[in-house]
Amino acid sequence: MQYGYHIEATNSNTVISTLDNLRSLNMIICKTKSEVREALQVIRDNGERIGAVPTMGALHNGHLSLVEKVKSLGGHAVASIFVNPLQFGPHEDFSDYPRTLDSDLALLKAQGCDVVFTPAGREFVSADFSTKISVAGVGEGHCANSRPQFFDGVATIVTKLLNVFSPDFAVFGEKDYQQLMVITQLVRDLDLDIEIIGAPTVRESDGLAMSSRNEYLSPKERSQAAKLFETLNLVAEKIAQGRVAWADIQKWAIARLETAGFANVDYINYVDAMSLEPILSPDQPGRLLAAAWMGKTRLIDNIPIARRIS
Ligand code: AMP
Repeated sequence: MQYGYHIEATNSNTVISTLDNLRSLNMIICKTKSEVREALQVIRDNGERIGAVPTMGALHNGHLSLVEKVKSLGGHAVASIFVNPLQFGPHEDFSDYPRTLDSDLALLKAQGCDVVFTPAGREFVSADFSTKISVAGVGEGHCANSRPQFFDGVATIVTKLLNVFSPDFAVFGEKDYQQLMVITQLVRDLDLDIEIIGAPTVRESDGLAMSSRNEYLSPKERSQAAKLFETLNLVAEKIAQGRVAWADIQKWAIARLETAGFANVDYINYVDAMSLEPILSPDQPGRLLAAAWMGKTRLIDNIPIARRIS
């Protein structure tokens, strides 16, 4: 039986041929669905919990914090590295998206990840694949306005990954807050017996949310990019003061971002933290969501808005 690959093996190519070997290895790398299913079954048979961390690779500390979360919850971590073609639009950066598999594997191993799924080519998404999972409501508006294919692509591939892994729980970053809500909704709607856990956004020292796409930024753009988080925090203060109408705060924030060097602001929205609908009552917990272009790089960020005690 072809099984998996030991990270330390030369060329990552030594076949691990028995299930007994799995338990003694630090991290198993699986390239096929059957390999990863068998690796995870060993963990399940041992009565231990599995936590999933789907990623597109080009890993940074934000991704690694999700693996850490799995470990802190007592789970064995299975991470996937798959640049999902279904979530990119025709003119988006699918072919340019950073692919750094060797360093990703080293980082995952150092973080104590147990199993990695790195499907290649058509092994995971066959040429005749034709199913689409589409989440209405939370999957509409905000990022979906400028990336209409995005959440269908995410929902479809995440459902496939969850189906292959059958984890007890899966951890997703709050950095992609709308995505987290889409996945929470689909798991509920489709009766998947998997707990979805959100993990806080990991940031650079100046506040910029870590993202694989940050490496597209020029040094000048990189220095301006932190204004997105800074502006969200200033907006939160204005909301808390309660003196200015939301529409005026929104206009102020867009102007501030444009002055700070953002070429275009896709949106900055103040919404109900669960439904992602516009907040109507000041007593609801809210979320500020934003997306803006720094040069050719689209950045997103969001922060919680605490329930106002009036
Ligand atoms: P991606 O590889 O960008 O598809 O992201 C994979 C997972 O990592 C998703 O659950 C993201 O929300 C999460 N993630 C990405 N960046 C961060 C960050 N800065 N902090 C926390 N989680 C993140």
